[in-house]
Amino acid sequence: MADAPTPPAASRRKASRHRGEGQWAVGHFTPLNGNEQFKKDDDGLHVRTRIETIYSKAGFDSIDPNDLRGRMRWWGLYTQRRPGIDGGKTAILEPEELDDEYFMLRVRIDGGRLTTAQLRVIGEISQEFARGTADLTDRQNVQFHWIRIEDVPEIWRRLEGVGLSTTEACGDTPRVVLGSPVAGIAEDEIIDGTPAIEEIQRRVIGNPEFSNLPRKFKTAISGSPLLDVAHEINDIAFVGVEHPQYGPGFDLWVGGGLSTNPKLGVRLGAWVPLEEVADVHVGVISVFRDYGYRRLRTRARLKFLVADWGAEKFRQVLEDEYLLRKLVDGPAPAEPVARWRDHVGVHRQKDGRFYVGFAPRVGRVDGTLLSKIADLAAAHGSDRLRTTVEQKMLVLDVAEERVGSLVAGLEALGFQVTPSPFRRGTMACTGIEFCKLAIVETKARGAALIDELERRLPEFDEPLTIHVNGCPNACARIQVADIGLKGQLVLDGEGRQVEGFQVHLGGALGLEAGFGRKVRGLKVTAEELPDYVERVLRRYLADREEGERFAA
Ligand code: SF4
Repeated sequence: MADAPTPPAASRRKASRHRGEGQWAVGHFTPLNGNEQFKKDDDGLHVRTRIETIYSKAGFDSIDPNDLRGRMRWWGLYTQRRPGIDGGKTAILEPEELDDEYFMLRVRIDGGRLTTAQLRVIGEISQEFARGTADLTDRQNVQFHWIRIEDVPEIWRRLEGVGLSTTEACGDTPRVVLGSPVAGIAEDEIIDGTPAIEEIQRRVIGNPEFSNLPRKFKTAISGSPLLDVAHEINDIAFVGVEHPQYGPGFDLWVGGGLSTNPKLGVRLGAWVPLEEVADVHVGVISVFRDYGYRRLRTRARLKFLVADWGAEKFRQVLEDEYLLRKLVDGPAPAEPVARWRDHVGVHRQKDGRFYVGFAPRVGRVDGTLLSKIADLAAAHGSDRLRTTVEQKMLVLDVAEERVGSLVAGLEALGFQVTPSPFRRGTMACTGIEFCKLAIVETKARGAALIDELERRLPEFDEPLTIHVNGCPNACARIQVADIGLKGQLVLDGEGRQVEGFQVHLGGALGLEAGFGRKVRGLKVTAEELPDYVERVLRRYLADREEGERFAA
């Protein structure tokens, strides 16, 4: 049984008499809800031993419910949705009625960095243990489905044999560290954040000091001027900037996050050199662990603390109680020059070779395809690949004379290197196929929407993002899309409840970061969706002025 860690001396204060927000730093160590209780009872990281020694041998029915629906997430495992349960039952059924005896297993790919050997192993696991499934997520991870508990130790053995892991891929933990997919290779790079990502992996991931956070903690690091890791919506982000006096380093952001109460991150006005990024990361995650709200799950993300404190107080507590020094003031990042930040297409690297970004539809690939991508990359002299936060992939280090052949090979596999704006800009979350929280289907609908729009609007030539979500939880970033679609049940023309979407219009990251407007009363049935999107886009095409981008 793990006790809560002791807060730093400077913050040992007398517990207030009322329950407050459950912050450890002000003395509230008594768990105020079931999640806090199971985390206090036993560290989520400890469940691995039980999976290896008991559950994988005795089977699904032997799993303790607090492990099944709680601690197994610390190792990237969620039960998936029992097939055949429609979205109307999601909020009605008990968790055990929704649980299938198969799992989703998330593999963390920090920085989106993969070798061909790692991708081959992912492909093999997918084919052998996951019925061929392997989705690319919008956090650079890979997710398998249909995983049996009996197979988990062998899957870990294979992943870890090539340096991959599922440690803290889910749960109230430091999740995968997002990184620029072109770190270390881009011609226009301000600074390569890779050493900082590796240092954070070493110091933070799997460290019991940070394995009981109030909720998940998302990190993003990019030294690309394209701002290519959605830094605005992470709990902590380091964004490449050039300090006028000290040179390249990172601008520090905290408190971003979407879900049902979205907030953009705020700048602390601090410049962090590469070698201090991990220290500052440890400082911020410690503030979150100690001061983060633990009473209500709905207020337990860092964004609520940052919103209540403001940037100035947050920076002061970070400096005075955790870093024990002042941070250097620094500049804001410049606006990115391009709207697409996904690196799709053929681009020259700073070493003269090329990288090639390509677009699966809505992140859906499979084990066979992943193995073929690994073979294709290797056959073209590449050993490195990257995943992006737009559910896309890159092959790095290709000699100029081999680019054409690689592009042809990818397109033969169904992956376009010059995709339509619809294929390029449409993302979809897991949805009702596997997710227990889902209300509607997303992946097949997203793919069908792409096909329809390509057929109906071949002339459309603007960057455009369409994000399809299966419920209000915003895993596919509903609020920051040009067209955000939130899955819910709606009434059709005959008054029947059917799957559909609440529409959000005009969200964006980067140049004009902001949340889309929920269009009052604008809900479309899933069946009407292609017609609706076509109407919106045709109106834009008819009315747009010179240089006007799509912003519905
Ligand atoms: Fe599941 Fe909802 Fe997240 Fe989609 S947005 S993956 S349906 S929780």
